[in-house]
Amino acid sequence: PPGVLEVITGPMFSGKSEELIRRLKRARIARQRVACYKPDIDMRYHRTSIASHSQQTHDASTVRNVEDLRAVLFPILDEVEVVGIDEVQFLSPEIIPLVAELIALGKRVILGGLDMTFEAEPFGPVPVLMAMADKVTKLSAVCMTCGQPAIHTQRLSASQELVVVGAVGMYEARCRAHFTPHIDEV
Ligand code: ADP
Repeated sequence: PPGVLEVITGPMFSGKSEELIRRLKRARIARQRVACYKPDIDMRYHRTSIASHSQQTHDASTVRNVEDLRAVLFPILDEVEVVGIDEVQFLSPEIIPLVAELIALGKRVILGGLDMTFEAEPFGPVPVLMAMADKVTKLSAVCMTCGQPAIHTQRLSASQELVVVGAVGMYEARCRAHFTPHIDEV
């Protein structure tokens, strides 16, 4: 029987990684064999796991690109029932046919990724993957200006970039009213 595609999306800090980790942990409780990957652009906490901003983790292998992902996944595919991929927005469009192939082979595929860039443009392959999905979970974060639900990722000023290394401090969640598609000089 064919598999299923689940996409978990929303802005930064909306809990995408947390939700992906939660689903993968539950699959393992159900004794399903899980393989998890992330592109190595995301250096957030670990190279051998995915991590949420709330410090939850799940084992994951880093892959450089879609070709690399195929090369590491296909040899073990017979033993894998659930495939998780976090930060899928950073992968090239070749991820789309690969995901279709995994579904056709009966796998449950769970993807986490940003739907929009900090300029509010569709982000990489994510919108297409959302269209293909059996189930899309669009999460919101908390707007750092007003506390309302936030659908946008706000890029903060370049000066903050020098102060804080890594993503945290460079971006924050904002609602429609408080988001600006330009770098916000706060
Ligand atoms: P994502 O993968 O969507 O970036 P994570 O799962 O890594 O999100 O992190 C979600 C966690 O981030 C929340 O549970 C909370 O602890 C923390 N957090 C920090 N800032 C915010 C915010 N503005 N809105 C919601 N959660 C936030």
